Amino acid sequence: MFFHEKTYDIDELVRYNTHIHTHFSGCAKPEMQVNDIVKTAEEAGLKLIALTDHDTADKPNIVADFRKQILSELEESKVKVLVGAELSCCGIGKFVNDISCDEQMDYKLYTMNHFHVRFWDQPEDKTPRGFAVQMLKMAESVVDMRQADCFAHPFHAGYIHNFDDPHEVTRAYKDNELGDIMEKANNKQIAWELNTGAVMSDPEFYHRYFQIGKEVGCVFNIGTDAHRLCAVDSTQFAERLKEILY
Ligand SMILES: [Zn+2]
Ligand SMILES: [Zn+2]
Repeated sequence: MFFHEKTYDIDELVRYNTHIHTHFSGCAKPEMQVNDIVKTAEEAGLKLIALTDHDTADKPNIVADFRKQILSELEESKVKVLVGAELSCCGIGKFVNDISCDEQMDYKLYTMNHFHVRFWDQPEDKTPRGFAVQMLKMAESVVDMRQADCFAHPFHAGYIHNFDDPHEVTRAYKDNELGDIMEKANNKQIAWELNTGAVMSDPEFYHRYFQIGKEVGCVFNIGTDAHRLCAVDSTQFAERLKEILY
């Protein structure tokens, strides 16, 4: 369980990067070897990183095998390394892995919005509002059914290819709906990700999200969703994040 002290200081938050894929994620570059990631993080002066490989419906619980392999390779370093996973909530109350698998992870980063993936449930109502409501219900099911550490790129609509402008989906969330779910998760010590790619692709929404989260008093974790070594250093995004969020 990783739930740090509450802070809204981006310069402090960028010292943690809690969303990094190793080569075990098919979408990551072969250069994402465990100790090369750690070395890169160490050189960037990061305090803590989380390795968060993808699960898949084709091989449920495979992330437990990844974790064992990563732990066997991991060398000593100044950076604290959490060996976790990016875990799929692929429908309302639907998960890819057994709960016992997810619970082994040092960092349980749940995602509710990989709608581009074959095994993901699509909402019946395929309007922007339909997707927004679906994601809110999925997030609620994670809060109710799993002990998550954080949500990956929450509410982000970039993986929904139904609309010319995916921002229509993020505009369809109401402030009070965001506040309610963020507060509910916060009460269970679940953090909210500031996913650098998502924030930069939808500044209007993530400014709103950050302000609501601050009001509610929730904890934010920064994740760069690194698939290559050059994205491991989260401090490179500090200025851009401040412009958008503050
Ligand atoms: Zn993701
Ligand atoms: Zn990811």
